[in-house]
Amino acid sequence: MVRFPIFGGDPARRIAEADSVAVIGLGRFGSSLAIELMAGGTEVLGIDLDEELVQAHNGELTQVVRADSTKEEALRQLAIDEFDRVVVAIGGDVSASILTCSVLLSMKIPVIWAKAVDDRHGLILEQLGIQHVIYPEKDMGRRVAHLVRGAALDYIEVAPGYALVKTAAPSLLHGKRLGDTGIRASHGITIAAFQHGDEAWRNADNATVLHEGDTILVVGPTANAEAFAQLR
Ligand code: ATP
Repeated sequence: MVRFPIFGGDPARRIAEADSVAVIGLGRFGSSLAIELMAGGTEVLGIDLDEELVQAHNGELTQVVRADSTKEEALRQLAIDEFDRVVVAIGGDVSASILTCSVLLSMKIPVIWAKAVDDRHGLILEQLGIQHVIYPEKDMGRRVAHLVRGAALDYIEVAPGYALVKTAAPSLLHGKRLGDTGIRASHGITIAAFQHGDEAWRNADNATVLHEGDTILVVGPTANAEAFAQLR
């Protein structure tokens, strides 16, 4: 990455050299991602075609610019080629998403994340060479399906077939050392952490004793973790 003086030069170049991310497309997904990055201390350059959205996010992000990301010249003027990480959060206009990704790949941006609206869109992005293709609607739909179906309080499929589930500690765990319950062998899951009331979350170990009302994080193959979360 080319280094520019911190002071002076144009603002986008200054952002590029900090812990920074450029987010292209400030719809619901792109803007919530950009705001979360800002909240975690990352500098964000937001880009959108829509002047109203640009105005709306002015002041929320490090810098917000109106530009057409399918135009290489426009991206170069914003020093996008100086960024290590760029997120393409354009979904509805698939051709704009693909053209933008193609320009970014030709600029050799080291890490590109791109949102896909469906499998076909995602496949094209993968074939182009995008390393991180995300499917927000599909992933959220699957996650919510698991929450709706079972007693899980939260659910993340860490990888296909392997999940982390937040649920209430079932009665078979109450008042016993975890090491004496034999649940790894009997249920094929591990209790990774627990919370008692409003206390801070703690790592679970063999000596942990859970009580009614405790919340636990269960880790294991999806079917096992889900079945365990159904226990009362
Ligand atoms: P979300 O679900 O996140 O709200 P969406 O799928 O409804 O997104 P998209 O069509 O994905 O909407 O567009 C997201 C944003 O990307 C919009 O604000 C749009 O103005 C912006 N956008 C679309 N094309 C371009 C482009 N060529 N250059 C810059 N921004 C663009």
